[in-house]
Amino acid sequence: MVANNYKRVLIAGAGPVGLVAAASLATAGIPVTVFEAASGLSTESRASTFHPPTLDMLGKLGVVGDLIDQGLVAPTVQYRTKADGAIANFDFGDIADLTQHPYRLQCEQYKLTRIIARRFASDPNLTIEFDAQVQEVQQDSAGVSVRIARPDGSTERRAGLWLIGADGAKSAVRKSIDMAFEGFTWPERFLVVSTSFDFLRLFPDLASVSYVADPIQWHFLLKVPDMWRVMFPIAPEVADEDASTREYAAETLSRQFPAAAGSPINHVTLYRVHQRVASLFRKGRVFLVGDAAHINNPLGGMGMNGGIHDAINLCSRLAKVWRDEADASELDRYDLQRRLVTLEHVQKQTIENKRNLEARDTKDQVRFRDEMRQTAASRELARKFLMKISMLASLERAEQLG
Ligand SMILES: Cc1cc2nc3c(=O)[nH]c(=O)nc-3n(C[C@H](O)[C@H](O)[C@H](O)COP(=O)(O)OP(=O)(O)OC[C@H]3O[C@@H](n4cnc5c(N)ncnc54)[C@H](O)[C@@H]3O)c2cc1C
Repeated sequence: MVANNYKRVLIAGAGPVGLVAAASLATAGIPVTVFEAASGLSTESRASTFHPPTLDMLGKLGVVGDLIDQGLVAPTVQYRTKADGAIANFDFGDIADLTQHPYRLQCEQYKLTRIIARRFASDPNLTIEFDAQVQEVQQDSAGVSVRIARPDGSTERRAGLWLIGADGAKSAVRKSIDMAFEGFTWPERFLVVSTSFDFLRLFPDLASVSYVADPIQWHFLLKVPDMWRVMFPIAPEVADEDASTREYAAETLSRQFPAAAGSPINHVTLYRVHQRVASLFRKGRVFLVGDAAHINNPLGGMGMNGGIHDAINLCSRLAKVWRDEADASELDRYDLQRRLVTLEHVQKQTIENKRNLEARDTKDQVRFRDEMRQTAASRELARKFLMKISMLASLERAEQLG
C-alpha cells in the first residue's frame, strides 16, 4: 500500500503537542515532517500554565530558557472562596527536591510553538509544512500514508513509518482511524477575559495563580506577564453570540469586581468544554497525542501539559524502536501508561476541581475549605497535594505501570 514509504515520522498538527513531539524526535536524530492545516502557527492563547515536570521536559529539548524569559514565574498557587478570601496557599518550593523548576510558569501556549519553530528552524530533521491539512490515513505492516489537502484544492499522498495525530480535539486522524472519543460536554461554557486591571489592588494577598470557589460564580484569576486572565462559567441559557462580546465580558467582570469596571479588556474568548478520552491512543502505526487523544476542562491547567507528557513518552519509545533497541511491542506501553494516567489523574482531577469550586451544598463547601486548610497546614500533605496538582504524581504512576 505505501509505495513511496520512507524512514520518517509524520505528525498532523503544529500545536504545542505536535511541535514538542517533533522537537523530541528531531533531537533524537529522527527525521520528521509536521503537517499543519493553517497557514501559520496559531495565535490563540488558550493554555497559560506550564507545570514543573513539563518545564523539566522542555529543558531537555533546549527550549525552556526562552519560555521562562517570556513567561511569569508563579512560585505559589492559592485557593480562595469569594466569601472568605484566601483559604490555602501552596508553595512549589516544598517539592524543590523533585524538579528543576519548582514553580508554575505562566506563559501563553503560542509562545512555546514559536520558540520551538525558531529553535529547530535549521535542523535538517524537522520540517513543518503549512497549508497542509491531513484528511485521511491508511496503514499496513510496512508504513502509513496520509492524504494532504492544500488550500488550492489539490491533494497528495505522503508516507512515513509512523503517524502521530496531534491535530487537536476535532482530530481528522482520530476520525480516520475510527477511534471513539467518549465522554461528555459540560452544559456551561467558559468565558476567558484578559484584562490589564490590577487585581492586587483589590486583593493584596492574591497569588499569580488563584482559584476562587463560589456557588454563584466561581472563577480563576491567572496572571500572565502583562495581564490577568479571568475565567467564568457561563450559564447554558446565555446565547453564544451574546456571551462572546466585549460588552458581555465587561459587564460580567464588573459585576464580579465593581472596581474593575471600565478597565481595558484585551481578549475575550468563549469555550465549550468537554471531558473525553479516545478508546485507544494507538492503532497500529498511528498514535494519538494531546487534545486529539483527550480533552478536559482547564481547571488545573492539565490539557496541554498532559499532551506534552504524551509526546515525550511516545517519542522516547519511537526512538528506541527506530534504533532497534526495542521491538514494536514497546509502543504498546504508550497507550497503556498515558491512557490510564489520563483517566485516573487528568480527567478525575479536572472534574474534581470544577466540583469543588462550584459546590452549592454547604456541606461540600465546608469539606472543601477544611480539606484545603488542613492540607496546607501539613508539610507532608502539602507535598502530596503539590505532586498531584503539578502532575508529578501522574508521571510517577505512569512509570509504575511499566
Ligand atoms: C481556556 C483554556 C485554557 C487552557 N489552559 C490550559 C493550561 O493552562 N494548561 C494546559 O495544560 N492546558 C490548558 N488548556 C488546554 C490546551 O489549550 C490544549 O490542551 C492544547 O492546546 C492542546 O494542544 P494540541 O497541540 O494537542 O492541540 P491544538 O493546540 O488544538 O493544536 C492542534 C493543531 O493541529 C492543527 N490541525 C487541526 N486539524 C488538522 C488537520 N486535519 N491537519 C493538520 N493540522 C491540523 C491545528 O490548526 C492546530 O495548529 C486550556 C484550554 C482552554 C480552552
